[in-house]
Amino acid sequence: MSIVVQKYGGSSVADVSRIKQVAARVMRTKQAGHDVVVVVSAMGDTTDDLLRLAKQVSASPDRRELDMLLTAGERISMALLSIAIRDLGGEAISFTGSQSGIITNDRHVDARIIEVRPVRVQDELANGRIVVIAGYQGVSYRREVTTLGRGGSDTTAVAMAAALGAEYCEICSDVDGVYTADPRVAPSARRIGALSYEETQELAESGAKMLNAQAVEFAKEKGIAIFARAAGSALPGADPSADGTVVRRHSPRQPGTVVGVASERDVIVLSADGGSSQSRPGLSPSDGTSAKAVGPGDVLALLDEHKVAGKQLHVSGDRLTLVVSRENLHAEAEVREALAARFGGQVRVADTLGAISVVGAGINASFDNLRRGSEALTASGASIEGIATSSFRITWMIDRPRLDDAVRLLHRTFIEPLNS
Ligand code: ADP
Ligand code: ASP
Ligand code: MG
Repeated sequence: MSIVVQKYGGSSVADVSRIKQVAARVMRTKQAGHDVVVVVSAMGDTTDDLLRLAKQVSASPDRRELDMLLTAGERISMALLSIAIRDLGGEAISFTGSQSGIITNDRHVDARIIEVRPVRVQDELANGRIVVIAGYQGVSYRREVTTLGRGGSDTTAVAMAAALGAEYCEICSDVDGVYTADPRVAPSARRIGALSYEETQELAESGAKMLNAQAVEFAKEKGIAIFARAAGSALPGADPSADGTVVRRHSPRQPGTVVGVASERDVIVLSADGGSSQSRPGLSPSDGTSAKAVGPGDVLALLDEHKVAGKQLHVSGDRLTLVVSRENLHAEAEVREALAARFGGQVRVADTLGAISVVGAGINASFDNLRRGSEALTASGASIEGIATSSFRITWMIDRPRLDDAVRLLHRTFIEPLNS
């Protein structure tokens, strides 16, 4: 019998009536002849609420204790969904991440999955049961409970699908797939029927929340097809791209085409200026010959000490800039104090910018897309504070309040002409 993994996000299990609707959809899947594994997120805004609670207790809550707290959210929804399925006459059993065999490293708050040993899940499937798993969590080799970073239930689902050899992995949410931009921000955004792993990963890393970037990376490695769909949708038919988004290995589309626009609001930008007249290339730490000198390596070492992950790192001589997402940064106050204590005014933290990106294979083959986007942004009055590119992406750093307008603007510039 084929195994299907379904993941339901927080908004899809936000209250009792929605949990009952999910239970009915799970039952239909089982009745269609599949073995079913369901991964659930915490109800509604539970994770945000728990984080707020922790921050009322401490400005920089301990990472291990945060994981103990946050994993409780998914534990509530897994039990309630299992109860709801049983109420419909189904045989369900719920498991925590640890019970399902999700083994992670011990980097609390944004742990990575190292391996999945789904023995108990397989045993229960063999008994004919529907297995409901708490998403977003695992256990380290030291038997510490961990979480996988915000949006991590997607990763649980894909990792479980890979470990079980599932036919596909459905990611069910409040939108019916991945759109050309966040449909809440750009009403003219359209659903994209088919996406490659690379395009989806870049969109996710650029702030499109619908799918988690680590989950897509996992799916790519293991060749798992992801069907992104609405939680209330029919079960996937012969062509799941007709009413959702299918992410799998696709034949490449016309190179240079922008497929989507994404933005990330909650970022801070660190910049360090070594302060020495002689530039020190590379990541060499300060040599201590000048009381003032700060090497880029010194700053990165401090960030590693505090387990802060960054992106868009740029080092030139002894100057460094780095974008840090706030998503999994829960001890910002402590980190900023440590930076100020060690480097004084030589490390600055800008808290006024956001990132806007366009994504597509080969979009940087010439500078045409970069120039068009930059001209459109500048003409709209936005001041561009930085630009970064990869082979699939162009990212502009602009004033945060302009981000939503910029999403609509770049969508009009790059995507709408293709649809007309
Ligand atoms: P879930 O709780 O189901 O995991 P998320 O909030 O993580 O849901 O992701 C779904 C949300 O992602 C949508 O409500 C939508 O506003 C937002 N979103 C951002 N960018 C996109 C995009 N390109 N396509 C679809 N949804 C997007
Ligand atoms: N509940 C977690 C979060 O809000 C994980 C998830 O929803 O995927 O980030
Ligand atoms: Mg999500």
